[in-house]
Amino acid sequence: MERPKSEAAFAEAQKYIPGGVDSPVRALSAVGTTPIVAERAEGPYIWDVDGNRYTDLCMSWGVFLLGHNQKDVTRAAEAAVRRGSSFGMCTAGETRLAKLVNAAMPSMERLRFVNSGTEATMSAIRVARGFTGRDTLVKFEGCYHGHADHLLVSAGSAVANLRRASSAGVPEDFTRHTVCLPYNDTATFSKYMAESGDGVAAVIVEPVACNMGVVPPKPGFLETLRRETERHGAVLIFDEVITGFRLTSGGAQRLYGIRPDMTCVGKIVGGGFPAAAFGGRAEIMGMLAPSGPVYQAGTLSGNPVAMAAGEATLSRLSDQAVYDMHNERCERFFRKVESVLAHKKDVRVNHVGSMFTIFFNSDEVVDFATSARSDKPRFAKYFNNMLERGFYVSPSQFEGNFISLTHDDNILDALAVAIDESVE
Ligand SMILES: *Cc1c(COP(=O)(O)O)cnc(C)c1O
Repeated sequence: MERPKSEAAFAEAQKYIPGGVDSPVRALSAVGTTPIVAERAEGPYIWDVDGNRYTDLCMSWGVFLLGHNQKDVTRAAEAAVRRGSSFGMCTAGETRLAKLVNAAMPSMERLRFVNSGTEATMSAIRVARGFTGRDTLVKFEGCYHGHADHLLVSAGSAVANLRRASSAGVPEDFTRHTVCLPYNDTATFSKYMAESGDGVAAVIVEPVACNMGVVPPKPGFLETLRRETERHGAVLIFDEVITGFRLTSGGAQRLYGIRPDMTCVGKIVGGGFPAAAFGGRAEIMGMLAPSGPVYQAGTLSGNPVAMAAGEATLSRLSDQAVYDMHNERCERFFRKVESVLAHKKDVRVNHVGSMFTIFFNSDEVVDFATSARSDKPRFAKYFNNMLERGFYVSPSQFEGNFISLTHDDNILDALAVAIDESVE
């Protein structure tokens, strides 16, 4: 597959845009390939500027469960933009989408729209701190919650309590109130809460981790988070920016039967436009200005085009039967892939619903430490083998892949064959 136009476009981009990208992972540096410059997309496919077609498994990082350029969504966005793309006033579309989100996730009794997942988690944490009057935030290693200063924190060493910024430009002072604990480690979390729980404002977690590759919660992990936060009066925040409207019509919280105090959604909720939301218990969300003392705002928040695309998307996804059918099809696909790869002792398939990661790892991947031991050079080879076969999988060992409703059985069969060959 030749990509001269992509290469030229990327060279030009690098003159003006740092690294040639507006988000680092797009540079494909982890897999040693020049970036693909996209031109258009439809259903499960993306075409690049050279006219190559890829079957996409990244799906804009999980944005498109309905597939790319789904016609109801595109039509709704087109109609909205003709009426005006922003008013700086209230619109009825915000309430309609809020109603759909609330119906899907009743724990989001009140919610507010923002423009990105980063903004959603940042704002949720501020509200939780305002509500509790406490400062400490507990997060889990390997979970990603956007790029706000106090969230770019990783466990500094084996001592879970020692923390350091995972990015330059983040003052150590900003990370002082963030505690990073190992994911899926119920004992460490319970011990921390027993000692320091009364100072914790919020515990934020990806209920299924998707940003160290897909890592499901162990039985009891989320239940323990719920029980301990309740006991100590801390706010439990589910970051469902990926899992919301992805795993079930009510996200991971419905799948696992846990009601968090607050939830963040993004990706799918904007139907491919910049929208996300944070919400939760009415008394917590009541802390927000103008009714309460916690400030948060946004010029383009609740943008009418994004609201229309989100409404068209969630309208298609309000029926749990859609998920049952889709997840069943994905399950059949995973069983096939697992049987094809069964003889490979150093390859693992982690999957939940329509999300999966193939780990080049001889151990079970249950947290950041195990995920980090994966064979990254081997993943890079696998990625490029897939690309040669016309499949664009998420370009890092530490990301999820996303199967849309437009990936039919024929595509999934071909995908299983390509995975088998590419792993080999
Ligand atoms: C993508 C993501 C975010 C950040 O969302 P952006 O829209 O990229 O700012 C936050 N949390 C999770 C779990 C995500 O996957």
